[in-house]
Amino acid sequence: MHMSNFCCIFALDFNSDFMKRIVFPLVAAICLSLYSLPTLAWGQEGHRIIAKIAYDHLNQGTRKRVDKILGKQGIIYYANWADEIKSDTIYPTSYDWHFQDFDGGLTDSIVMASLRDYPKEGGNLLRVTDSLIAVIKATKPQELDPHTLRFVVHLVGDRYCPMHTARMDDKGGNAMKMQWFGRNTNLHSVWDTKLIESQGYSYTEYAQKITHTYTHLRRDVEKMSPEELLVGNYHVTEAIYTYQQSWDGNTYHYIYRWKEPMEWQLYKAGIRLAKLLNEIL
Ligand SMILES: [Zn+2]
Repeated sequence: MHMSNFCCIFALDFNSDFMKRIVFPLVAAICLSLYSLPTLAWGQEGHRIIAKIAYDHLNQGTRKRVDKILGKQGIIYYANWADEIKSDTIYPTSYDWHFQDFDGGLTDSIVMASLRDYPKEGGNLLRVTDSLIAVIKATKPQELDPHTLRFVVHLVGDRYCPMHTARMDDKGGNAMKMQWFGRNTNLHSVWDTKLIESQGYSYTEYAQKITHTYTHLRRDVEKMSPEELLVGNYHVTEAIYTYQQSWDGNTYHYIYRWKEPMEWQLYKAGIRLAKLLNEIL
C-alpha cells in the first residue's frame, strides 16, 4: 500500500459509514483467515523440546560432530527450520514431507507395511525421512550438507506428532474444528501447540521435566523397533479421534486426558532422535 493511502485510512473518522461497512469487516475477515490458517507441525516449542532431549542424550563424540555441522546447540536452534522454509523456493516440494496420512481403523500389520511399501499419496514423511537418513549414513560428517541434518532433526520429530500421522479426510485434524478455552481452533493446532503451551514451561524446563518423568523407560524406548514405534504413534492418533467423539468440550478435561500421552510422544521422539544420531554420525 502506498504510504499516502495508508495514512489516509488513519485520517478517517472511525464512526464513518466507510469504516463501519468496509474497513472493519475487511480487517475482521483478514484476522479470521489468519487465525484459521492450517498449521503443519509440532509447534516451535515441541520441536525444541525434542531437540533438547536429543541433545542431552547424544554421546560426547556425536554431540561434537552435530555442533560442528549445525553450530553449538544448533540442533535446537534449527529444529524449526524445516517449517520456516516451507513456503520458500529452496525446497519447493518439501511441503508434504511433514506428514503421512493414515485411514482410521487400520490393522497394525497394515500400518507397519507402510515402512516397507511407502504410501504413494497422503504425504511423504516416512519415505523422505528414511532417504535423508540414508544420505547421512553414506556421507562423511565433514562433507554433510547441514540442511540434510536440519531436515532429519525436524522430520523425526514430526513422526511422533499424532496429527502428522492422522487422516486425509480432515487434513490431519486441520478441518476438525474445536474450542479451546472458548476460542475457535482445530484439532491439529491443539496438538501442535496448544496442549504443550498449556503447561507454561520453557522448552528447556519442559525437556527436563519430561526427561525426569520417563528416564526409567529410556532403554525400552531405545529397544523398540521402528514398526512398534509407528504403530504406537498410530494408536495414539486413533485414540485421539475416538476421544473427540465423547469429549464434553471442557478444555481442562482435554488437557487432563492428553497431557501425559503428549509428553510421552515428545520423550520418545527425543530419545529416538538421539539414538539415530549416535548411530549415524
Ligand atoms: Zn514439520
